[in-house]
Amino acid sequence: MTSKDAADRELAHYFENPEILFWNVGDIVAGGPIKIDGYYVSPYCDWGCCRPYGPFTTTDEALDASQKRWREWDERDRAP
Ligand SMILES: [Zn+2]
Repeated sequence: MTSKDAADRELAHYFENPEILFWNVGDIVAGGPIKIDGYYVSPYCDWGCCRPYGPFTTTDEALDASQKRWREWDERDRAP
């Protein structure tokens, strides 16, 4: 097993069950203030690095999107 596999597993695990937070317009995150209220998937790395992913109207929607997004990355990575 390579370290990339281990990192991928950790990332997959994170996106299967990410932190989801509600952000209000004007809240400051990486890349500038939030423009639309809603639920956002917290970045895997850290707050100073990447913008949260969203917005979504419910936590379920955010969770679904996070899981789907990870699977798309994963499939693209594994394409020949
Ligand atoms: Zn980042």
